[in-house]
Amino acid sequence: MILIKNVEYCGKKMDFLFSESAKEAQDYGVSQGRDEASHKHESNYGANYGKNGGQVLAFAENLDSHVKDSKKIVNLKTVDATGKVLFPSLIDVHVHFRDPGMEWKEDIITGLDAAAHGGFSHVLCMANTSPVNDSATTTRYMLEKAKNARPNGPFLHPVAAATLGLKGEELAPFGELSQAGCIAVSNDGVPLYSTEILRRAMEYASDLDMLFIDHCEDPYLARGSHMNEGVLSAKLGVKGQPDIGEALQVSRDVLMSEFLDIPVHIAHVSCKRSLDEIKRAKDRGVKVTAETCPHYLLLTENAIDGYNTNAKVNPPLRVESDMLAMREAVKSGLIDCLITDHAPHAAHDKEHPLDLVPNGISGLDTALTLLWSLVSDKVLTQEDIIRCYTKNPAEIFKLPYNSFKEGDVADFFLFDPSIDWIVNKENMHSKSANTPWLGQTLKGRVCEHYLGGVLVAKI
Ligand SMILES: [Zn+2]
Repeated sequence: MILIKNVEYCGKKMDFLFSESAKEAQDYGVSQGRDEASHKHESNYGANYGKNGGQVLAFAENLDSHVKDSKKIVNLKTVDATGKVLFPSLIDVHVHFRDPGMEWKEDIITGLDAAAHGGFSHVLCMANTSPVNDSATTTRYMLEKAKNARPNGPFLHPVAAATLGLKGEELAPFGELSQAGCIAVSNDGVPLYSTEILRRAMEYASDLDMLFIDHCEDPYLARGSHMNEGVLSAKLGVKGQPDIGEALQVSRDVLMSEFLDIPVHIAHVSCKRSLDEIKRAKDRGVKVTAETCPHYLLLTENAIDGYNTNAKVNPPLRVESDMLAMREAVKSGLIDCLITDHAPHAAHDKEHPLDLVPNGISGLDTALTLLWSLVSDKVLTQEDIIRCYTKNPAEIFKLPYNSFKEGDVADFFLFDPSIDWIVNKENMHSKSANTPWLGQTLKGRVCEHYLGGVLVAKI
């Protein structure tokens, strides 16, 4: 058992007692973990986690007398965490690990290493690998490699391709993909142009209790674009994609969701126009949830000025009014989940003219540090981050999480807000350092991360 003393949590000084194994939790008298629903995907995370791993024993402002009086506490180690901030581990429902097929950008081992050091317990890996994850063989390969590399987590959950080869023509075999361990369905990376395919994908996924995640981008309005459409794209002479291209598909999806009465999850929302569609849909009871990334809360299209290929991302960075609307949507709950859309690319992939480089930002190493800068600036609170990066994704995708109640999985990390660090290849655990923050000094870093009561990362 370990007692973390004097740690800051949502503005309060707390003590936190947890077990390092399920056996210790039983000895302490914790009867059972969280409800069954949160252990739906336990075959993806192996034998010593969840109900079978370390758990939360007690969480209160001062546990000194409890620890002194309790006979249930044995082998206690105490850690003084004064000055550190406590977080439950984060759940990222949208990452790209490039494995199989593009391992020079990232592989499952380095991707999970970046996740461990970034504070993540569970990650959902999109299907645009090579081959595409549209077969049980690829799903099994991903899960086996992840479990071998990191038996104690972070845990990888494959997302099934919606269509074979992501081509948008024929549905992938969701049944066998679900059986092999996929927990959601998405054509992420390649927007679905056929509404018939969209409808069938939503119905088929729903029958198997898999959530359909949609990458919203009108394929015609976005064709050949490399950034946001506006004054800057005109100045740079680069073809842009208008925000209406995203919002059009969002509105299509929420109408389809309403018509079928099937939930839909909107991937990486970037602009106010999409938020307006989601708000109208939520207000009338459509089962729509949505996610966004730190870069849409912190950057505008100006980051790409000077043809900065590390700021080329899809959907593109928008304008200031969009960025402010995205912040407001996280605060108000209109946006349900924060994600990285971790999309690593090797340096040589990005060392070409803007119109030739792929989209994407490597995000797992920097996500929490970037979000903390918004907490420091009083834009967000720690509670906002916990709601959108732990509780909501866990509930939407039925994964275990820590709410610091007795019996919860002991998934948490200590964050040191005083550490200054430079964003560069040496300090990042991802194989790729394609980020618009490359070379900058950021404040605050995840310093110790536990999953199921086991230390999985430390700096
Ligand atoms: Zn993506």
